[in-house]
Amino acid sequence: MTPHSQYSWLRSSLVMIMTLRESDAGSWNTEEMADFAKSFSLDALGFSVGGIMAFYPSDIPLHPRAKTLGERDLAAEMIASLAKRGIRPIARIDPSMASRALYAERPEWFAQDKTGAPVEVHGHFITCPNGGYYNDFMIRVVEEILTRYAFDGLWANAAQFSPWHTPQCHCTVCQQKFRAKTGKAIPDENWSDPVWRQYNEWRYECIAEWNARVQAAKTRVRPSCAWMPLSQVAESWDHSRVGGWDLDYTEPHQDGIVLEAQRRYANMFWPGLEARYMRSLAPEKGGGITTSYFLPWWRFYRVPVAENRMWAGQVMAQGVMPWIHVTGYQKEQFDHRGLDGLRETFAVFDRNRDTYMEAKPVADLALVYSRHSLDNFGHKDPAARYLDHFRGAYNTMMDQRLAFDILSGNRLTAEMLARYKAVMLPNTACLSDAACAALETYVRNGGHLVSTYRSGDFDEMGAPRETTLLGGLIGAKGTGVTWKSLRAAYAAIRDPSSPLLAGFEGTDLLPVAGDITFMRTDDQPAIPAPLTLVPPVEGEVGSGISVPEFNTINHVTDYPMIVDRRVGKGRIIHFPWQPDLIGFRYGFRDLFRLIANAVRQAEGWRDVATVKGPGLIDLSVMEKSDRLVVSLVNFSAPGSFNTGQRRIIEELIPLHDLEITVDVPSSFRRDRVRLVFAEREIPVTRLDGNRIRFTLPRLEAMETIEMLFG
Ligand SMILES: [Zn+2]
Repeated sequence: MTPHSQYSWLRSSLVMIMTLRESDAGSWNTEEMADFAKSFSLDALGFSVGGIMAFYPSDIPLHPRAKTLGERDLAAEMIASLAKRGIRPIARIDPSMASRALYAERPEWFAQDKTGAPVEVHGHFITCPNGGYYNDFMIRVVEEILTRYAFDGLWANAAQFSPWHTPQCHCTVCQQKFRAKTGKAIPDENWSDPVWRQYNEWRYECIAEWNARVQAAKTRVRPSCAWMPLSQVAESWDHSRVGGWDLDYTEPHQDGIVLEAQRRYANMFWPGLEARYMRSLAPEKGGGITTSYFLPWWRFYRVPVAENRMWAGQVMAQGVMPWIHVTGYQKEQFDHRGLDGLRETFAVFDRNRDTYMEAKPVADLALVYSRHSLDNFGHKDPAARYLDHFRGAYNTMMDQRLAFDILSGNRLTAEMLARYKAVMLPNTACLSDAACAALETYVRNGGHLVSTYRSGDFDEMGAPRETTLLGGLIGAKGTGVTWKSLRAAYAAIRDPSSPLLAGFEGTDLLPVAGDITFMRTDDQPAIPAPLTLVPPVEGEVGSGISVPEFNTINHVTDYPMIVDRRVGKGRIIHFPWQPDLIGFRYGFRDLFRLIANAVRQAEGWRDVATVKGPGLIDLSVMEKSDRLVVSLVNFSAPGSFNTGQRRIIEELIPLHDLEITVDVPSSFRRDRVRLVFAEREIPVTRLDGNRIRFTLPRLEAMETIEMLFG
């Protein structure tokens, strides 16, 4: 048996997490709830069992039983109802808070704010992940639940510091534990202080320690049960950073991976981002990405069907399982309008499991995501300093229709990188020595690296590198000068014949804004770079505005906006400015094209698939031994208002007559391909070699085109 095979059901399971409420748990009919689960084609249902509230007759003192249940054992009833329908049970626990009665007995188990006061939410007090509640009480709860009930999975909600938007913990245990490790007191937030950065890192380590403890406990009493604490990546950084959630730390202590994509202030590509990240981080582990039925934090109001189809579709397109989260199954005061739409989406997935499950990505490009850069370069403003670079790179791949994977910057190895024709570092400022060495090896052995701004200038903890990544590769040295917050600047096209500037016919310049760093290289080339800086054209320095009568470009510098060098057998193309971030912020397709041009210069590059026609889509290509699978998720929605809030997607605009070409293996010999959502076949035209072409008549939220071999 391979190490993960006992949890292999997680790799192919549609799952719903249902949060029970004390007020009406007593009146719930488990047969009805199990039917509800079945109507979503589910393989497993997670439901509340213990922690804040026990929905079973717990014998642990001060583990409060839901009063409305009396002596009823809802867990046992639920498991029996699910078993009749062949649905696996998952226990949902929540260690984030406990009762006043428990606080009166064990105040040292609870989080404290800086004044030493406990932190109250919903009449309960917040508990500390380092304290006895998590590490003794909750371990006993886990042991009791898993000893009594045959749960297949154990899922934890809100196992984190500062849950429910509460302040930093200063409890005695935290203070002693941090001092024992560092000799220092718990610092206040100050990103220029290395002690704060150490504290920030320590929170992630503490959560991983607790995960290891729960995994050990469940292994003692029910090893077949899969442990999978909830986590999040990237978009909800404000939550996961203070919480101490980093999959790089926790993944070794989990049997399955569950990432949540509920918050809707996030960019609409978040589920696809998390699915790509999870798949590359631990491809052998199952799990899923959670879509909420409800619109946070209106827990009873549905997300429009259009948005949730796009949300879940991105996950399916990556061969990762879509999960769904419902707060209770309300009979009153509940918005039912989104249920049927999600049922249909899950039913399509259910009928086409062979298409999506166990498929592997076909992508020649890896985009690096770096939590260390988010924190240790992003500091107090990680969206503007780091995340918008990454988002811009993601937006580039969608806009330019490039299939791509996402890799964790913390886990880069030369072997992993060697699988890709191109690797992109969007301002991946903070990289470890090992990651820099892996990237150097990758390039010297023939790899193609595209990077922006301060990539590789700092170590993972944010200390400036003596030799930067670019220094090691091409001898570049920073001058220490960064020109910040440029406005109304340009990049002049000096060599229109350069393939890096393909597609810009008719313009002499591109827009530039944001920051630019100045560096020196030993090999100053005799001819200028193909793209060079035009300083801001403005009346007063920094104003970004000029009077038209005086608005002239009277100086085009030779400062390169593209540093393009061969290194060993490979190549690096570096942008010492922020085309990813500026492209993302302003929606400049030219800057997306500029980055994509750099990617496409990789040796032997050829787009695995191409899509012609208007619209914003997420393209992915997956393969199995007997088929190739191309998925398109439609992101084309009205949204042309600037409200400062991401507007919910009530409607997707269907796209028509998309012309698609794909490279197929020689074992694909058919003259038709299958459309999974439209449920029909369409004809293909053979092009040269192993390229085929077909026209997708209509793309609603999602379509998958399946090419069966033989
Ligand atoms: Zn604490």
